[in-house]
Amino acid sequence: MMSISSERVAIITGASRGIGASIARRLASDGMAVVVNYAGSEKAAAELVDEIVNAGGRAISAQADVADPRAVRNLFDTAEAEFGGVDVLVNNAGIMKLAPVAQVDDADFDEMMAVNLKGTFNGLREAAKRLRDGGRIVNISTSVVGLYLPAYGVYAATKAAVEALTHILAKELGPRSITVNSVAPGPVATELFLEGKAPAMIERLEQMIPLGRLGEVDDIARAVSVLVGPDGGWINGQIVRVNGGVI
Ligand code: NDP
Repeated sequence: MMSISSERVAIITGASRGIGASIARRLASDGMAVVVNYAGSEKAAAELVDEIVNAGGRAISAQADVADPRAVRNLFDTAEAEFGGVDVLVNNAGIMKLAPVAQVDDADFDEMMAVNLKGTFNGLREAAKRLRDGGRIVNISTSVVGLYLPAYGVYAATKAAVEALTHILAKELGPRSITVNSVAPGPVATELFLEGKAPAMIERLEQMIPLGRLGEVDDIARAVSVLVGPDGGWINGQIVRVNGGVI
């Protein structure tokens, strides 16, 4: 007999590397058919798909800039054409450019708004129309919403807006048994986190974490797996901070 999860189809945005790739691997091993979305890393996305298929899973890759509403519609079209429908959306694609407010570059502001906020919104609007009843949505936020570290102003603002959308969409989609939650990771050693940080700065951040280590991508994927899996059915409208206790 097939388990419930083996019939499910998940789109993970920004899944060519980092946290998104780990979520795609995990949901595939949970039995879901996965759509590995990427922006530019075609080769990495294709390699991940091969890895999942070779392990007995179902996966395709699909290019789409989440900031472009038409591309996101096409992403859902592709998922439906390939797998017959969509049950799970993980809005993971994101970018981070750090600067104190006084020095924020207009282009960086616009890009973070476009990818982190508009990109998540584009996915949410499409999911609200097209997810099958009983579906699940997870938006990846950040524990910087709560920690409020200097230089993270615009990035944290985009993610705070994502958290607001999470609460409201949970209420809008509840009647269709679709849950909407956020996972807000603490520091995880990916390209996004490591780029431009001196080793001393990374060590300082590590020392702030009660569990004494940086997060690993799988720490985040495990939390997402619960929220979109059979055990997460009554968790709705929540922000789950997966961060080793840093806040
Ligand atoms: P990475 O930089 O390692 O990976 C980012 C992923 O997002 C890549 O797959 C990239 O695809 C994709 N991406 C970027 N822009 C777009 C776009 N416009 N459209 C589609 N895909 C896009 O980041 P992380 O794995 O670290 O971050 C993943 C999420 O987790 C982000 O939302 C981030 O804000 C959040 N987060 C990360 C933390 C950390 O410490 N690492 C902490 C808290 C939150 P491609 O390679 O094709 O460009």
